Amino acid sequence: MKKKVLITGGAGFLGSHLADRMLAEGYAVVAMDNLITGDIRNIEHLFGHPDFVFVQHDVTNYVHVPGELHYILHFASPASPIDYLRIPIQTLKVGALGTHKILGLARAKGARVLVASTSEVYGDPQVHPQPETYWGNVNPVGPRGVYDEAKRFMEAMTMAYHTFHGVETRIVRIFNTYGPRMRLNDGRVLPAFVGQALRGEDLSVFGDGGQTRSFCYVDDLVDGIYRLLLSDEVQPVNVGNPAEITIKQFAEEILRLIPESKSRIAYHPLPVDDPKQRQPDITRARSILGWEPKIDRNEGLKRTLAYFKTRVTA
Ligand code: NAD
Ligand code: UDP
Repeated sequence: MKKKVLITGGAGFLGSHLADRMLAEGYAVVAMDNLITGDIRNIEHLFGHPDFVFVQHDVTNYVHVPGELHYILHFASPASPIDYLRIPIQTLKVGALGTHKILGLARAKGARVLVASTSEVYGDPQVHPQPETYWGNVNPVGPRGVYDEAKRFMEAMTMAYHTFHGVETRIVRIFNTYGPRMRLNDGRVLPAFVGQALRGEDLSVFGDGGQTRSFCYVDDLVDGIYRLLLSDEVQPVNVGNPAEITIKQFAEEILRLIPESKSRIAYHPLPVDDPKQRQPDITRARSILGWEPKIDRNEGLKRTLAYFKTRVTA
């Protein structure tokens, strides 16, 4: 019998790539999603696969999975700033109530659960790069608070279930990740810039573009998550690519990659509480998981662009 894994947020960007990887590793996959920010097209190719099931369900309500369950990857949550600003209460609920349901399910089934946390737990960081030992600088009542605090609560709840109920838990802190299956209109910087460049619109750089991010290609991230799932590490682990770049340089890079584009850069106000810098310290992932990213931005952007070109014309 194959081991069974439940992937919440399974129709999302990361959840769908995880479904592909887990099926390729020989697991049976149950993808659960309420499609609030996901897209069924991300998993369309898996329908009909004998080891794949899709269940449309909101994980803030009681979650039932019949039979044995060995692993849970809890990835359900809006992830883009424009999404969680549009649906702030759902964002808080899935991080808090949804996580509670998933931990209860893990306890009942004796399943190991890995939860998707984020570099946003560090807020606008005053320590750079960010190691897992940094506690962060988060504004709980700012616009990003609904996401950041939900994820911080999720980590606390996960650790409590581990400590008090002995549930096998893993926490990954994911830094900005990109790749095929991001929604062109999800507002995150990469789809925003690529969509604008392909349509010939100016690239919307927020602020002076001096803020930094560090972008990880999705296949690298999925590999780090898979290794963490199978490891013994209970403490949070950063997974991301330390190659840091300013947003202005990133816009210029996208324009170089699409030489036929007539677009230029246009500056817009910086969103409230937008972190000024972000770069993962991946010492822990390197030493515990033997993991580091392999795909550089040039290669990752080429692969992603090929995907977006099919979407812009679709
Ligand atoms: P996404 O929006 O593409 O995927 C999230 C999925 O969760 C969607 O399919 C959505 O419909 C589903 N969902 C949301 N609320 C739900 C609910 N109540 N019940 C069932 N399904 C629900 O976003 P993503 O980029 O794939 O992010 C996946 C996870 O990874 C999120 O938890 C996010 O916080 C985390 N993460 C992502 C990044 C990144 O760079 N992509 C960075 C840090 C953390
Ligand atoms: N950003 C931008 N233009 C856009 C979208 C985003 O300049 O059209 C900036 C945003 O202000 C932030 C960075 O790009 O500094 C990354 O934004 P994103 O929403 O992708 O993720 P974040 O890391 O902020 O959660």
